This record gives sequence, structure tokens and C-alpha cells, in this order.
Amino acid sequence: MALDLTLGDLSRLARIREVLAKNDPNGQFATLDMAEVHISDDALDRLTEVIDRHLHAAGRQPSAGTQVRMIVDPVLIRRKGQDLKALVMARLSERYAASTVVMDDGHPILHADETILDAAAVASHGADVIVSVGGGTITDVAKIAAERADVPVHIVVQTAASVDGFTDNFSVVLQNGVKTTLLSRWPEAVLTDTHVIAEAPHYLNASGFGELLSMYAAPGDWYLAARMGMDRRYAPVLLDMLALCGEGIEDWSGGVGRGEPEACARLATALAMRGIVTGVGGTTASLSGMEHLVSHMLDMVAGELHLPTGLHGAQVGVGSVIRAAAWEEFRDRRAAEGLPLARLFEAPPESRVTSAFEWLDPTGRIGAECWGRYGAKLAAWQAARPQSEAALADWAALEADHDRLSFGSHAIARYLHRAGAPMRPADLDPAPSDQRIHWVTANCQFMRERFTVADLLMLAGWWDDEGVARVLARAEAACAAAERAG
Ligand SMILES: [Zn+2]
Repeated sequence: MALDLTLGDLSRLARIREVLAKNDPNGQFATLDMAEVHISDDALDRLTEVIDRHLHAAGRQPSAGTQVRMIVDPVLIRRKGQDLKALVMARLSERYAASTVVMDDGHPILHADETILDAAAVASHGADVIVSVGGGTITDVAKIAAERADVPVHIVVQTAASVDGFTDNFSVVLQNGVKTTLLSRWPEAVLTDTHVIAEAPHYLNASGFGELLSMYAAPGDWYLAARMGMDRRYAPVLLDMLALCGEGIEDWSGGVGRGEPEACARLATALAMRGIVTGVGGTTASLSGMEHLVSHMLDMVAGELHLPTGLHGAQVGVGSVIRAAAWEEFRDRRAAEGLPLARLFEAPPESRVTSAFEWLDPTGRIGAECWGRYGAKLAAWQAARPQSEAALADWAALEADHDRLSFGSHAIARYLHRAGAPMRPADLDPAPSDQRIHWVTANCQFMRERFTVADLLMLAGWWDDEGVARVLARAEAACAAAERAG
């Protein structure tokens, strides 16, 4: 499908709205209630003009009495050597009654837990405008504060291209120590200063790059799920929008590694479009397949063992190489050994799932939760048998369509390597042991109802220790090749 849309349309969100409305076969898309995204080296010059526009839209007259709260964490962020937050505050106080709200829980990286969310909402009470200045966490905290304190205008000043959550209506928060994605609200506008992004610590932009690469992994899983009757919400327009994000990645991935402003701007732009695709899509499946399961499993283990969690995007990049390797392993083994279709419908027993989580949670709570989800997936799989048999019988078409939507392990590893982003498990911080990544990979299909290539490997009987080791060896080979290619 040719979408008469470009990444430049981020500055004309009405155009994106129109294209989505025309291509929503299942009537599942949410409204895009964000009005403006500006990514440029002078985006901050628009700050008060943008605020005034949205005050008017909310029926409030901008004045010296307009209450503006700038929500930040204590991290010092620079723009061309100057303190960015001081620069923003100077602009705000020239025109409005502006004050700074610093969220600080003593952690080196703020935790978006209930205490912090509550404190941000209380501090925002009575405000006309929230301006959040920071990364993904402070943005997510401010979205919830705007919602809870009924503040009509939220303007985001983005300071790193670390996640795709600046331009969506979700917040990732901590509930009882577990990361959870909550529906919150769209910001009215997102301002991204490309100097600021380029000066952000490299590991943050590298993490954003890792997250970006799930768009070359997850669509393969989503396509498989749709073809096999395991997901009825497949909407190709979302994949077409994602394809825009990757344009020219060959050329600009290296620039991300070198911290070049233009390449960092390109990354921020691609992540902004991804955020919109997730926010509008009515499902995260377009961007969240097996690679995200690997990341979520790492987080789950860290949470249970009270260990620090790693950066989400960095883990997703590593997971993307593993996901691609998993598909290649399935494809090659099917070609070499054949795949009797009947075998795919001999379901693994409940004990196979619950026993896998016993070491992590002896109370059995996690095992039972996972069996609930996996059992539901198996029931859906049995019910969809005619579709999956038909899809697998038409293998050449299935493989060709899949490969149009996703990249191989070598390509994904090459891009990650060029951008200086983690590609191997050992590149992560904290780095999981070989044994941990093996366990995470082997059991990731049990944690969610969503169907991925890991399910195919499991059902084919190719997901024993040897099968998992083969996939991880392929992923490693892809990383080694990326290193050799430089
Ligand atoms: Zn993600």
C-alpha cells in the first residue's frame, strides 16, 4: 500500500489523522489527541507561542498570572553547555507565573511509583500548564500529573531519544515494583531540540535505537499471528507508517553512534512516529513481539530478585537479534527436517510451564499467572487450526511475506553495532549471565497471550535446551559478523 505520507508529516498531524481514519479496517484506532511535534535545532524558540495556542484552545487567556509548573528530575541537562532547565524556566517566567517542581526519590534514575505520581499530581494542582523537561520517566510522570490534577495543557520538552513514549498516550509506571503500561493522556505538544538530544549521554540514544529496531522484528511476529488466525487486529497501515521510520537507517545509524545532531534528530523523528503508531493503533503488536518478551522477562527476573533493571530499549535491541535468529532457525529446520503439521497441535502440559518458574517464585504465583496466559493461547491455537494449517501449507508465500516485514539477524546486529547500541546480552548493563539469557529465551513464550515465532518453535518441539542454544548461537554469529564488518 502506498501511503501518501512522509516523516515530515509529523509537523502536520492532521495529515496523519486523515490517513489513519481512511485505513482502519477493524475500527480499532484511538484518536490522535496530540496537536504538535517539533523536532529542530530551534524548537525551544516556539515554547511560549505553543503554550499560548493551547491555552486559547482550552479557553484560557494567556497572562502574567497563568500558572505554569515545570516538572523535572534533578539531572543536569545541557544545551550547548548551558543548563537547559534554567533556559526553559527563563523563557517561562518572562511571560507567566512559572515555578519548578523537582521530583526526586533519591534513586539515580527516578522511579515512577505511586509516591512520585501522587507528589507530581499534588504539585500540579491549580496549574494551567505543565511543561515537563526530561526523559521518558519524567514525561510519563507529567502525563499522569496532568490527568490527575486536571491540567488542560501539557507540553513535553524531550531531552534524549531514549524511548518512543514521548509522543503517545501511555505511561510506564511501577506498580508493586513491576513495570506496567497505563493509559494516561496525550501531551498537547512535544518539542525536541536536536542540540539537546545530540548532547544526551550516548547510552540513552543507543537505547532508543535498540527500541527502534523492534520495528524490524515485531512485524514478523504480528504477521505470523495474523496469518495463523491468532490476531484479528492486524492493520497493515501501521506497518506502512513504521516503514517510514526506517528510511535511510543504513546511512544515519552510524551518526547515532558518533552523536551527530542530524542523525540523532532522525532517530528522534523515527521514535516520534513509532509513539504515534503505538498510541493510535489500538494494539502494541506492531512493535512488540518476541524481542519485547525477552526484555520483559529480564525485567521480571530483576524484579523478583530485587536486582536493578536494565534500559528497556537496549534490551529490546538485543532481543531483536534473538528474535530474528529464532525465525531463521525455524525456517531452516523446517526445510532440513520437515514439519509434520499434526505435531504442532500436541500441546505442552501445564507442568511444563509452572515448573519453569519455580526457581524464580517458589510460591507458584508467577507460574500460575503464566499458565493462565499460555493456556489461553493454546486454546486459541487449537481453535485456529484450519487457518494455521493453511498458512503453513502455503509456506513459500508465508516466508516471502514475513521476510518483507522483518530483517534477518545479521542486518539487525549490523545496525545496532553501527549505532554503538548493545547487540549481545553481554553488552547490557546489568549483563545477564549465559544461563539467565538461555532461561529467558526458552520461557519467554509463556508470559503473554500474544503469538510469536517462539511459540512455533515450542509447538514444533524445537525449543528444548539444544534448540534454544542453536538460536542463541545464531544470534552470536550475527553479532560477530557485524563486528567484523565494522
Ligand atoms: Zn518497547
